[in-house]
Amino acid sequence: MTTTYKQFNIENSIYVFCVEDFEIFKIPQIEDVESVLQEIKAEKEKSNSTKNKKKNLKDDFTKSKIINTIGIDIANSCTLNCTYCYISASKKPRKLLSKEKFLDILNFLTKEKDQPITFYFTGAGEPTLNFSLLKELPSLCKENGFDKCSFNLTTNGTILTKEMIEFFKSNKFTINISLDGDEKINDASRLYHNGKGSFKDVFNNMNLLKENNIEFSCKTTVLPDNKNLAEAFSFFEENKISFIFSIVTNSFDNHFSPNIEHLKNFEEQLYIIIKNYRKLIEDNHKIYATKLIDDLKRIHYGQVNKIGCIASRESFFMGIDGSIFPCSYHSSEDLSVGNIYTGIDYDKIVKNNWYAKPVDNYSTCKVCWMKYLCAGSCFAIKWLENKNTEEPSEYLCKTYNIYWSAIIKLYTQLYPVIISGNNINFNDKNSENQVHYI
Ligand code: SF4
Ligand code: SF4
Repeated sequence: MTTTYKQFNIENSIYVFCVEDFEIFKIPQIEDVESVLQEIKAEKEKSNSTKNKKKNLKDDFTKSKIINTIGIDIANSCTLNCTYCYISASKKPRKLLSKEKFLDILNFLTKEKDQPITFYFTGAGEPTLNFSLLKELPSLCKENGFDKCSFNLTTNGTILTKEMIEFFKSNKFTINISLDGDEKINDASRLYHNGKGSFKDVFNNMNLLKENNIEFSCKTTVLPDNKNLAEAFSFFEENKISFIFSIVTNSFDNHFSPNIEHLKNFEEQLYIIIKNYRKLIEDNHKIYATKLIDDLKRIHYGQVNKIGCIASRESFFMGIDGSIFPCSYHSSEDLSVGNIYTGIDYDKIVKNNWYAKPVDNYSTCKVCWMKYLCAGSCFAIKWLENKNTEEPSEYLCKTYNIYWSAIIKLYTQLYPVIISGNNINFNDKNSENQVHYI
């Protein structure tokens, strides 16, 4: 087993991060780095040789026995015209999935019906435009033998009504609302077709959800040139709204491409954000940036991830005409891998490498210090950027380098708080199982 290390200089101290298990060591002095690393390496090799080594994950694509996650393009146009929309939804003619087509999808999935299936309505337009079908789905699923389904909806929140909200509540839909921050930040990109900002309507509808005691989370798109990104994070914390964030990427039709030069601004903003979170966490505030807390926990518990995603294996995306795609990020017409009437073309998936391989099977990733954090990233984004899923996306790699370096820095600063067992964000019962020390 090769163990590699990444060195960080944080507040005049030297830390080394072990790529294999995320263990972090504080090194007393710069002159000691080499000798201490030799000692650590020897210790790790000794303990690894006495442990049962896990088998390496296979490179081969193996068709999964189960399909448990299905994204559905239920309405592929949109009430909004967001500047960065990766599917350019507003330019599409309004098309809605029909009840007959949904029944054909269920028919296609019949062989999976002993398995619980999660249906996702996300990433393909605004699903609430087709509420007349959405409200029939739970009963259609039950009538057709799919009685263990769950439903996950991502909406832009512009046209939610009381009827929709009651329906989502009684049918236990998981709700995600796309929102990028306060009015100024959100309305810089998330606009109606007439150019008007969407913040006010969405925020009012979020209050409707709150009044009806419906839990929801926001999905936030981070633009690397946003000079107010730290304010966006503060907006969610001040309003006590849970949110996850992801960096914007290229659109399918190239009308939007993030500029790699803007990552300098992203780094500066992240510096402020991390500083703010250090203070909030040390003061024992509940944190609503769930991804940030989960990522600190990943470092703490050594949760390595060796494979990017389950698309093309356990998960597929169904287009409005019954075409099948690996996922919603990989769903322009030429990327179809079959349809619900003729089945999935697994040969095409394998030929084009439209699936995530174990990260150690990508030559560039294999030697990357973030390989078990990033797991080789999204193959759909790599395809969009390079027309080749073997090569990483330069933009994403640089983004991850900035992000994970900041998370590791924050982790080292918060370490005493994390292990104290007294912090509201890190009071997991199994904190004694933590394996890292500094
Ligand atoms: S809400 Fe989503 S689907 Fe609609 S335009 Fe914005 S990014 Fe595209
Ligand atoms: S995609 Fe980039 S950041 Fe991720 S493991 Fe590969 S080289 Fe590293």
